[in-house]
Amino acid sequence: MGDRELYCEDCGAETLFETPPCQDGHGADCPELVCTGCGTALLTAGFPPLRAARGGTRTDAPARRHRAA
Ligand SMILES: [Zn+2]
Ligand SMILES: [Zn+2]
Repeated sequence: MGDRELYCEDCGAETLFETPPCQDGHGADCPELVCTGCGTALLTAGFPPLRAARGGTRTDAPARRHRAA
């Protein structure tokens, strides 16, 4: 994950965040980002759900018209 601009509450503005040297073995997937302005570290919890649950609720099921006769 490279640098990215995010809103920093401490800075009160959008600042450039960069991934610090990861010591937890996350590698390129490290969710940590550090504000280059004030040094506040935050976790990017807003990961897109890459592995969304499948086979759960399907919304494209055809509506059943059941006529009780
Ligand atoms: Zn990490
Ligand atoms: Zn900041």
